[in-house]
Amino acid sequence: MSRLSVLLPQLQNWGCHNCGGCCREHQITITDAEHQRIERQCWTVADGVPADRPLMVSSAAGWRLNHQDDGACVFLDAAGLCRIHSKYGESAKPLACRMYPYAIHPAGSGLTTSLRFSCPSVVQNLGAPVVAARVAVEALAAEAVAAKQSDVACPELRAGVPFDWSRLTRLLAWLERGLEQSGLPFVLRLQRLLGLLELLELAGTETVAEDSLGQLLPALYAASERAYPAVAVSAGSAGAQRPQRLALTMLRQLAAQLLRHDTAAMVSSGPVRRLGLLCDGLRMTLGWGWVPEQSDPESVRVAFVERAGLSERRRRVRFTELESVLGGGRPEIDELFHRYFHVKLQGRAFCGPAFYGYSVIDGLRSLVLMYPAVLWVARLRAAAEGRGLLELRDVQAALATLDHNFGYSPVLALAGSRRRVRQLAQLRQIAPLVAWYGR
Ligand code: SF4
Repeated sequence: MSRLSVLLPQLQNWGCHNCGGCCREHQITITDAEHQRIERQCWTVADGVPADRPLMVSSAAGWRLNHQDDGACVFLDAAGLCRIHSKYGESAKPLACRMYPYAIHPAGSGLTTSLRFSCPSVVQNLGAPVVAARVAVEALAAEAVAAKQSDVACPELRAGVPFDWSRLTRLLAWLERGLEQSGLPFVLRLQRLLGLLELLELAGTETVAEDSLGQLLPALYAASERAYPAVAVSAGSAGAQRPQRLALTMLRQLAAQLLRHDTAAMVSSGPVRRLGLLCDGLRMTLGWGWVPEQSDPESVRVAFVERAGLSERRRRVRFTELESVLGGGRPEIDELFHRYFHVKLQGRAFCGPAFYGYSVIDGLRSLVLMYPAVLWVARLRAAAEGRGLLELRDVQAALATLDHNFGYSPVLALAGSRRRVRQLAQLRQIAPLVAWYGR
C-alpha cells in the first residue's frame, strides 16, 4: 500500500501509556474484513475473553466490538492490555484501535493530522514529538483514507461563500501567527482571532478571492488588534464584563452536551437513568441551585483523579460558585490551550468533513467556544475539591473529558447546535464568554 504525505502538528508529543481509557470509552466499529480476521483468530474462554456474549455484534453502522459489563472492550484484560495485541501483535487489531488518538483528514491534495485530547497522554503532552512518528502516521493514513482524498471540497468560508484549501491554509497561517504571541494573554489572542472573523464575515465574495486575500488578512488582523488592545486585558484580569444571561445559559448547554459520556453500559441503561439525564440537562439550562454531579470518564479518573487521591473528597457545587475569579489565565494553562488550538487548526479538525460540514467561520467559532466550556468544567472540578484556584490538572481533565465529543458527538451536528454558535456570534457574546471564564 502506498504512503501518503501528511501534515503533522509541530507542538504536540504523544506516546501511549496504556491507561486503557480508549478501550472503555469508544464504540469500535470494524469492517467486514476485520470481523472475519477476528473470527479466524478463534478466541476461546481459555484466552480470558467473556463466555456469556458474542465478541462482535452487528449494529446500524456495521460490526462493532462488544463490551464487558463495566463498559470495557471484550478484549481488554485485567492488566489494561489488549488481548489481540498481546497474542497476535499490533497489526492484528482493528484499524480504529490502531488509529487512536490520531485523526486524519483530507485537505486538498494532502492530508492533515489532528490528535484527540481525550487521550490523557495527548492532553499532558507525554511521549515523543508527533513529527517523529511520520512514517507510522503515513502508513495509517494509507489504510484509512480513500485514494481520491483530493476530491474532497473545501468547506465554505460562510454560508454561500465558496472557499478553497489554499486560501484556508493562508487564513489559518494568520490565525496561528496571532495565537503564537506568547507574550500576550491567551484570552486576548482569542479575542483578536474572533475580531478577525467578525470582519472577515463582512467581506464580500470578491474581497476574499485568492488575489485579494493577501492584502486583506493583514489589514483585518491590524484592525482586530486595534479593537482589542493589549492594555485592555491582562493575564487573569478580574475586570471582565459579565456576559449576557442568555450567553451564560447557552455556554452551560454546550458544556452539558460535551460532558455527556454515553458508554455502551449507559446506552443500554433503563428509563430511570435516561430521565435522570433529562433532569440534569434541564438544571444545566436553568443554572439554579446545585450543579448536577458528574462522573469522570475512566481515562480521566485514572490519569487525573486516582493519582491525586481526591476522588472521595468531592463536594456539591452551586452554579454561582463557578462565576468567580479562579485564575484561568496562567502561563501553563495558556500553553495547554495554545497547543490544543495549534493541533486542531493544523489538523483542520474544526470544519468541513472533519466537523459536521460546518463552514470555516462557524467551525472556528465552535473551536473558540471550547475555551470557556472547558474552563467552566475545570472550575467545577476545582470547586468540587474545595479549591478557589484552578490547577493545570483541572483544565487538563476538563479538556480530556470535553474533547472526547468535539467533532464526534452527533448532538453537535444538529441544527440547534449550529444555531447556538451563530446566535452567540450575532449577539457578540463569544469574546465576553472567553474573557469571563478565562479570568
Ligand atoms: S487513552 Fe491514550 S494513553 Fe490511554 S490506552 Fe488509549 S492511547 Fe494509550
